[in-house]
Amino acid sequence: MAGDEERKAELVCPRCEVRMDRVPLKAASEEGGDIVIERCPKCRGMWFDEFELDRVITAKPKELLESDKAGGAGELEDRKMKCPQCGGSMIKVKSLQNRNVTVDSCPVCYGNWLDSGRLSRLQAGEGILGGLKALFRRT
Ligand SMILES: [Zn+2]
Ligand SMILES: [Zn+2]
Repeated sequence: MAGDEERKAELVCPRCEVRMDRVPLKAASEEGGDIVIERCPKCRGMWFDEFELDRVITAKPKELLESDKAGGAGELEDRKMKCPQCGGSMIKVKSLQNRNVTVDSCPVCYGNWLDSGRLSRLQAGEGILGGLKALFRRT
């Protein structure tokens, strides 16, 4: 666990450049261990490592979704951001879970940045695909 702590230390919000809070999610533990995501205390955006976003969407952690909805800072400036994990330039992609939601994705480390409010919207679009995704996930 110590190694994990180190690896995840000091991630900085790509928008506000303040240190993000680590948010451990117990609800996701069924699929291979706890997830720790990073959340910006200022803009409430969230950072997910590769695979974490999928797992969070599956796990539907209530507290996270509630804070996500509550924290909506309205439409944020749409600008290019640097990956908080590796410093690469993130690209905007339409989420597979909900094509109406844009996710900032890092092509280098495959992490994902969600502005506040986006997670709830992703979750809302999961209904149709949820069953299919559960099937494909059995690897
Ligand atoms: Zn921020
Ligand atoms: Zn990256």
